[in-house]
Amino acid sequence: MFLEPYMPQEPKCGWIEIICGSMFSGKTEELIRRLKRATIANQKVIIFKPVVDTRYGDDAIVSHDRNSIQAIGVSKSSEILGLADSFEVIGIDEAQFFDLELSEVAQRLALEGKRVIAAGLDMDYLGNPFGPIPSLLAVSEYITKVHAICPHCGSLATHSYRKEKENVLVLLGEKDLYEPRCRSCYSKGEELLLKKESELEESE
Ligand code: ZN
Repeated sequence: MFLEPYMPQEPKCGWIEIICGSMFSGKTEELIRRLKRATIANQKVIIFKPVVDTRYGDDAIVSHDRNSIQAIGVSKSSEILGLADSFEVIGIDEAQFFDLELSEVAQRLALEGKRVIAAGLDMDYLGNPFGPIPSLLAVSEYITKVHAICPHCGSLATHSYRKEKENVLVLLGEKDLYEPRCRSCYSKGEELLLKKESELEESE
């Protein structure tokens, strides 16, 4: 579990934390946990998310267990700079959907003495590094990789497997469209879905 480092009051120095992993790995839950603890300590907390994420209405980040907090939708990462001025802790959810300038923005906020916590998918469903996440990982002080559990073999799941074929990257995931998979089961692709289907037919 991530515990906040002890930071001296002066000189005031900010830092960047990244929480990344596959779908259903608990990224947003972990982001919410950290932000709630900061709120309880009376720190001024604000949360941003890209406006592309319209799953649950405009101003809430909602993790899959419905543990939600208010977030502000922004259309590009540079908007965060103007809005974050009077806050100490800056949360960023679904960071993979932001533009590539996000790592620059996060570094500027950290330089201003703020704690920046960004959560996002490290890989898209094709297994490629996702948007600004690789460069955020390079410039951040603390990285937490969270994992789901592979439903086929019980190993740690690192990949998000898309069960329906459609080449649209910005399709937001719910359980019926994606499943987490370990590296090995991800490489087997559709074969495992077909196997599951035939097993279900046999048991009927
Ligand atoms: Zn597996």
